[in-house]
Amino acid sequence: MIDLRSDTVTRPSAEMLAAMTSAPVGDDVYGEDPTVNALEEQVAGMLGHEAGLFTVTGSLANMLGVQALVPRGGEVLCEASAHIVRAELGSHAAVNGVTTRTWSAPAGQIDLDQIRALIAADLGPYFVRTSAVSVENTHNFGGGAIQHGYDALADELDAHDLPLHLDGARLWNASVASGVPVAAYASRAAAASVCLSKGLGAPVGSVLVGSTELIREARVWRKRLGGGWRQAGVLAAAGLYAVAHNVERLAEDHANARAIADVLADAAPGSVKPDQVETNIVVADLAATGRTVAEVVAAAKEAGALVGGVGATQLRVVTHLDASAEDCRAAAEVLARIVS
Ligand SMILES: *Cc1c(COP(=O)(O)O)cnc(C)c1O
Repeated sequence: MIDLRSDTVTRPSAEMLAAMTSAPVGDDVYGEDPTVNALEEQVAGMLGHEAGLFTVTGSLANMLGVQALVPRGGEVLCEASAHIVRAELGSHAAVNGVTTRTWSAPAGQIDLDQIRALIAADLGPYFVRTSAVSVENTHNFGGGAIQHGYDALADELDAHDLPLHLDGARLWNASVASGVPVAAYASRAAAASVCLSKGLGAPVGSVLVGSTELIREARVWRKRLGGGWRQAGVLAAAGLYAVAHNVERLAEDHANARAIADVLADAAPGSVKPDQVETNIVVADLAATGRTVAEVVAAAKEAGALVGGVGATQLRVVTHLDASAEDCRAAAEVLARIVS
């Protein structure tokens, strides 16, 4: 079975497992796990921030990052299909009392005019005031799209004295594809999260970065939410291995995704624009093929390929380090036979 449902399905390699079993560890709640400390320091440095916090998931890193910027009852602006508002089960509202208003744009892009119109100034005790803007780069449900208006938005927010939150679950992919260093993106944000468990292939974990003060407070909240952990260095070691070995190779995943898009565009013209597949996610619209996503997903499974959907007509195919170029070609041919 070729599994292209998500880049979260990867298994730790033998080398990564060896790094995990030989990692020096200690009690991280006491701040005494040297491997966790090394990972937090390393990722913070890579992203141009003072401090980092290792978390069990990207959802928790985002929850802590947004919470650090938005007071209870305040609001964060984000795109309508952003992970923080679609795929975190309402945690920002349910746990932190954060409200959301959204803009909507093709491929989940930043739309500066819409954002400008949404930003609410402090009008006293009558209206909610905007406390932060959150941007996802790359944008997951937007087909792995890089945010091309990122710097312009960061400049605009500086002028409004508003902080930027960066959901950088796949910031590594954005950086490898665009050639822009991860620090050039992340340093524009007051809080940024990156996943180690997506394209980088670690089994668990994300890192939230920010100022020393922001991370100190986020560390308290992580513990309060039950997310303190002890000898977590066994997991941090996988993260350190991943950032050392699995970043540059993301270019292979991007090439494989583009190749899949080429095959799908031939089989179902108009379903996807291959030149808009910038990273490791292909979202193809099946509306014109007469097949539903559920049908295509089921037929592909019969034929040995697992893929997923983002809504009724949109198929999502995600490439990763456990899927070779040949695997991706084979899966693309399976899908092409089904949709054509
Ligand atoms: C996967 C993902 C996250 C975090 O997901 P977890 O499963 O909680 O680790 C956050 N943002 C985006 C854009 C993602 O794709």
